[in-house]
Amino acid sequence: MDPVMEKALEQLQDLYKDLDKEIGELQKQSGLHCPPGCGFCCQRPTREIEATILEMIPAALALIEEGQGSFFRDRAQEAGEAGRCVFYSPINEATFSGTCGRYTFRPLVCRLFGFGAIKNKQGKLEISYSIVMKKTLATVLDSTDKKLTEGMMAPLYSDYGTRLRGIDSPWTQDSYPLNLALQKALEWVFLRQRYS
Ligand code: SF4
Repeated sequence: MDPVMEKALEQLQDLYKDLDKEIGELQKQSGLHCPPGCGFCCQRPTREIEATILEMIPAALALIEEGQGSFFRDRAQEAGEAGRCVFYSPINEATFSGTCGRYTFRPLVCRLFGFGAIKNKQGKLEISYSIVMKKTLATVLDSTDKKLTEGMMAPLYSDYGTRLRGIDSPWTQDSYPLNLALQKALEWVFLRQRYS
């Protein structure tokens, strides 16, 4: 493994660990969770779900090890930015239910779906909930919003985005539609394998 990539991946895993901890704390205090089986955030075109190449390297390494690298590279290229994430399997389009085929390797933006906050003009934290969350978790969302105004913490998109871009590597400087980021990550791993 390229030593710069190795270090960057370690920093990425540290970032994910900190985020998991922060989301765990938020969930403990608020009861906030994703509706079971919900795939609402995943069913959008990937031009609306961006990731860096680094974030897609863990999935690329696993796919190549499983012998599925070329298959997913071609699928990602075909689906492109207008298509859905190639890891998403819809179950019921009407209810937005579906599953992520690579949940363990999902990038930062997917980890923040439903939990990531922004600071409003008054400096208070606001979480942007999906329509499925609004329909099914109204009481929990009301209580979460109230606790946020009272000072409860939630992971900030801006903090984690800044920390990700702060990982010193050529693979964190640009974000791409998720399918394109996966394609680039797979191509990078293939290239390294060819010349190592
Ligand atoms: S990586 Fe998983 S969680 Fe993220 S958009 Fe794709 S299917 Fe959804």
